[in-house]
Amino acid sequence: MKYLKQKLKQIDGKSYKGYKGIQGSFQFSNFDLHIDYAQGDPFASPSKIRLVIPKRYQSIDEEWLKTPRRQTYVEDHVARRVHKAVFKEQTIVKGSGKSGMIAIDGPDQTILKRSAVKVEKDAVTVCLSIGLPANGRRINGREAEKLFFEALPSILKHSIFSLNQDHLSDILQLADQHDAIRRKMKEEDWIAFIANDSILPRSSGISSKPLQNSIPFKSPKENEVSFNIPHRDEPIAGMAIKKGITLIVGGGFHGKSTLLEALEQGVYEHIAGDGREYVLTDPDAVKIRAEDGRSITKVNISPFINDLPNGSDTKTFTTENASGSTSQAANVMEALEAGATTLLIDEDTSATNFMIRDERMQQLVVKDKEPITPFVQKVKQLRDELDVSTVLVMGGSGDYFDIADQVIMMDQYIPFNVTEKARNIADDNPVEWPEEPENFGQWTDRTVIRESIEKRLGPKAKVQAKGKHHIMIGKNTIDLSLVEQIVEDSQTRMIANMLKYMAVYAPVNGDLTITEWLEYFEREIEQKGLSFTQKDQEQHPGDLAEPRRFEVSAAINRLRQINIK
Ligand code: ADP
Ligand code: MG
Repeated sequence: MKYLKQKLKQIDGKSYKGYKGIQGSFQFSNFDLHIDYAQGDPFASPSKIRLVIPKRYQSIDEEWLKTPRRQTYVEDHVARRVHKAVFKEQTIVKGSGKSGMIAIDGPDQTILKRSAVKVEKDAVTVCLSIGLPANGRRINGREAEKLFFEALPSILKHSIFSLNQDHLSDILQLADQHDAIRRKMKEEDWIAFIANDSILPRSSGISSKPLQNSIPFKSPKENEVSFNIPHRDEPIAGMAIKKGITLIVGGGFHGKSTLLEALEQGVYEHIAGDGREYVLTDPDAVKIRAEDGRSITKVNISPFINDLPNGSDTKTFTTENASGSTSQAANVMEALEAGATTLLIDEDTSATNFMIRDERMQQLVVKDKEPITPFVQKVKQLRDELDVSTVLVMGGSGDYFDIADQVIMMDQYIPFNVTEKARNIADDNPVEWPEEPENFGQWTDRTVIRESIEKRLGPKAKVQAKGKHHIMIGKNTIDLSLVEQIVEDSQTRMIANMLKYMAVYAPVNGDLTITEWLEYFEREIEQKGLSFTQKDQEQHPGDLAEPRRFEVSAAINRLRQINIK
């Protein structure tokens, strides 16, 4: 500690590069400071530090680490507390560039496995980014002293050293309850559970906070289940959605898309107070939408599209600029390749000609002039041959009545089970379907030529996430803005790290298939944590969160000019 103070005095007023000399470890009275990386310039990306708080200064309850989920939830909670405390300390330190900036990768509404905080048996580690203080481009040692000796201890005092035990115990209980609900869902073959009184709508299109004064969710009586979960006297009740084909209908503005969005997000768990903390979906559920303009590389879309007028081969379909229907077909096939077991589809974001083809149109444009086999003709095969369920919002056509296992109608934000009624209507108004294809068909397991990503990287081998929606890979950009189940920038950063690792560092001989890569990444995270792509495991892994395999595969699939065989 004294040593750091001395050092700062020595380098005060000197050229900014002098900060490199404080990289290393220092002992404070109740934590260890590790300066893993000192920035070379006050305007460059910030410096990275770790604060390690040994057990003797902050007791670590064995209960916190009893299950993997508990550990994740405690770490997530500590990250939230530090984030709050950091926010309050922002104004203490002054100077040019990023001087005095302090940041932790702060969570949003979702509880994810993240690297900002690590809670282990004997220590808590917090990863921060800081802007080392400068006057112009010279070191401001006095402000740096304030940052290290006032701001950091104060942040710890207001977060780690003042954790609320009751709050923590609520968080452990929620973790156990989520485990129990997920277990129950597996046992009962439910692809979703939505507790009564959940709040599904968000306060705005750009906010993930609950909408105030909204109408709480209430299960249709036909779908209502209730069962016991730990830490609760009353059983929990709500709507269970069984495997199979579920159709959501209802008038415009009655809450259909809101329900589907809650299901999309239910692949993750949410914090208490979010309104969706008891809304859980099959973790392998993937939102499928049209995404015209995206690139597609050698995807077998032939189950949906054949005999294109330009003669392209739809078994290894490649384009730089997909149409609505081809992009949606590719999104389905890629999701299946990555292991999706549920597909979530909303009419609002679908290509109509991919979803349906009504009788009149079938008469006018005969089958052999139409390359598309609409989803309505494939959805049963998905269920019966591949055991893949579908939840589909469709307010504008009754074509799915015949094949849906259940039909849910949203009426003023309340769901009703109208399966019987829809069946009767279908029976009274039969539709002539064109001949069905014999079976669903297949996706092709594709192999990534690593070199083709490496080539994209350029000489500096730079891969960088830009917010949630973009990854720069050399001079190329991967556009993820329509990949709706990425929920945080930190997931995108992790995906960027994985891509670079895949192209350059992975100790793997030869080329793997996309699925093999996804499995490889999952194994590495399991064994080494999110820092597995890093050269030095000890160093600051800082601002990463775990993405699902589907979002990793989405990024690989959207890299233009990637070479795949
Ligand atoms: P649809 O897809 O049926 O047209 P949306 O799901 O888009 O309808 O919902 C329409 C509007 O109603 C949205 O602004 C949404 O925020 C709001 N909304 C949805 N569910 C509720 C609810 N339970 N309580 C209050 N408002 C809601
Ligand atoms: Mg809608």
